[in-house]
Amino acid sequence: MKRLTAPETWKDASYTRAPKRARRIGRLVAPKIFPLSAAPPYIGGMTDAPKAKSSPRDSLKSLAPILPYARRRLGWIMAAVAALTLASGATLVMPLAVRGMIDRGFAADHAGVVNSYFLVLIAVVALLALASATRYFLVMTLGERIVADLREDVFAHMTRLDPAFYDTAQTGELVSRLTADTTQIKAAFGSSASVALRNLFMFVGAIGLMVFTSPKLSALVLVAIPIIVVPLVTAGRSVRGRSRAAQDTLADASAFAAENLGALRTMQAFNAEEFSTRRFSAAAEGAYAAARDAVKARALLTAFAIFLAFASVVGVLWLGAHDVLAGRMSGGQLSQFVLYAVLAASSLGQLSEVWNEISAAAGAAGRIAEILGEKPLIAAPAKPTKMPEPARGEITFERVGFAYPTRRDRTVFEDLSFTIAPGEKVAIVGPSGAGKSTLFQLLMRFYDPVSGVVCVDGLDARAVDPADLRRRVALVPQDPVIFSGSVADNIAYGAPQAPAVAIEAAAERAAAGDFVRALPQGYATLLGERGVTLSGGQRQRLAIARAILKNAPILLLDEATSALDAENEILVQKALDELMQGRTTLIIAHRLATVLAADRILVMEGGQIVEQGTHAELVARDGLYARLARLQFDAGAKGLEPAAG
Ligand code: ATP
Repeated sequence: MKRLTAPETWKDASYTRAPKRARRIGRLVAPKIFPLSAAPPYIGGMTDAPKAKSSPRDSLKSLAPILPYARRRLGWIMAAVAALTLASGATLVMPLAVRGMIDRGFAADHAGVVNSYFLVLIAVVALLALASATRYFLVMTLGERIVADLREDVFAHMTRLDPAFYDTAQTGELVSRLTADTTQIKAAFGSSASVALRNLFMFVGAIGLMVFTSPKLSALVLVAIPIIVVPLVTAGRSVRGRSRAAQDTLADASAFAAENLGALRTMQAFNAEEFSTRRFSAAAEGAYAAARDAVKARALLTAFAIFLAFASVVGVLWLGAHDVLAGRMSGGQLSQFVLYAVLAASSLGQLSEVWNEISAAAGAAGRIAEILGEKPLIAAPAKPTKMPEPARGEITFERVGFAYPTRRDRTVFEDLSFTIAPGEKVAIVGPSGAGKSTLFQLLMRFYDPVSGVVCVDGLDARAVDPADLRRRVALVPQDPVIFSGSVADNIAYGAPQAPAVAIEAAAERAAAGDFVRALPQGYATLLGERGVTLSGGQRQRLAIARAILKNAPILLLDEATSALDAENEILVQKALDELMQGRTTLIIAHRLATVLAADRILVMEGGQIVEQGTHAELVARDGLYARLARLQFDAGAKGLEPAAG
């Protein structure tokens, strides 16, 4: 699939705040954006932002996690350094040739000597051009390679982070780190690194040759260097802080755009286009202001560096001119010295510019390092226990206690125990917020219980590899996720190797074959992001086909009927009946037919199982279930009269 939407948590709790983890991952979770007096806070994840400050994390050390990526390409780096040395060497030879020409060629008034010097110069220039092109190619490609590696790793890492992380992080903001921040790092590792190395070589070489040409004048230049370098380094720190602020602001703007465009229909239904545009413009202006601040700081730094560097050259030139007048040095020697001094000064000037860029990249790297440093709370144990084969599909909750990491103070389950036998069909009913969906989340190990054990096929879910566990479970959520891609891609999501016949067979069994064939390109038809081009019932049948293809022994169904008309409901029901054949099934039941067909019904309230039994038994008891059933399944109310039980 080419474009996948950002990972989604099942229950959207993105506006809840996680005090503990929030503190740990710092800026990652707290959305921060610009005050906009007309707008209420907390809309669309945008809140008033405290002004970002430079932190110790923004130091150059932030680049450290990027270095292993460079080390992987050591061969390229060596080749680039070789090309660089050659190019710098060629440049440094030129002043020597100029001196020779002035002192020997002109002085001797000998055209032959002048010609040979020009021939040498042309050869040196050709070498310089070739070596520079090679260096440019190697270094730029290296930057692109490193950033591609980095992006792949960061995305892979993001996919492994647990849902609790996404309960508080903003996906749009994370995507911005993946794209905008890595681009900034590319600049540092590509062009900037190349320019830095070249200028460093040139600077060192030019200084060495200056000393060789005139130790006295060089001593004067060397005194000036610390005066230039020390303020540069200090100012670099401020640039780093500002760059980081600019990237943070940009990420917020991206998060806002992603969230709002993702909900375009809601936005337009509420005539909120102008409002959202104003909010985004404020975000974009904020990003611009932060970036402009960073650029201003860099510009000042550059002016300062260039002035100091060239002013010291002019001063030394003035002294040198007096030495020539007094006959203490030749004109050629002074020309050679001045050329080296200009080379050294311009290298230093460029180094300061590069220093700015590397500082900015350090800010971006810091933001990426934060994500890479984020450890998933749910991971495979060091020595995972193998799950028994063949799978039985048995589920046990043993005295499970649970609260969401974002709301540790609010207990969802306190002491929940039940067992579902292999092949059993169990309906779960209960009022909203009873904990029905949370049950599924624990079963798939999106979260770990705080106490007690969740077992699948007799094994503690924490003892096995989560991938192994999830292979045994197929989930059909209430609001199925459709990715942008073809119909076939969507059915084969999670089973990309599935042959076309298997995909089509799954679609037929899910009662989706007819509508898919009627689409313009059948199974190859591209579906819009989140399946906006499909009806609710069609989306659901595709999700069912996906679960059929997965062929897992445990089935978790969050039924939805609200989106379906009578005809669709019959089709979806048919698909579900097909899917449930021979599998352990847990269904959050919203329709009477499901409840009636279940082997057992668990009635949940406040995180507890308050009643269980068959429909007839529970209706006869005339407790919570009977009351809920009367309210919830009004369409089939006739079948719910106690007399029916
Ligand atoms: P419904 O029928 O409305 O879907 P439910 O029975 O499935 O409700 P759950 O979604 O399991 O209920 O929610 C149980 C409790 O946990 C609720 O109080 C809910 O606010 C809370 N909750 C659900 N998801 C999260 C989350 N990701 N982070 C924090 N709290 C959550």
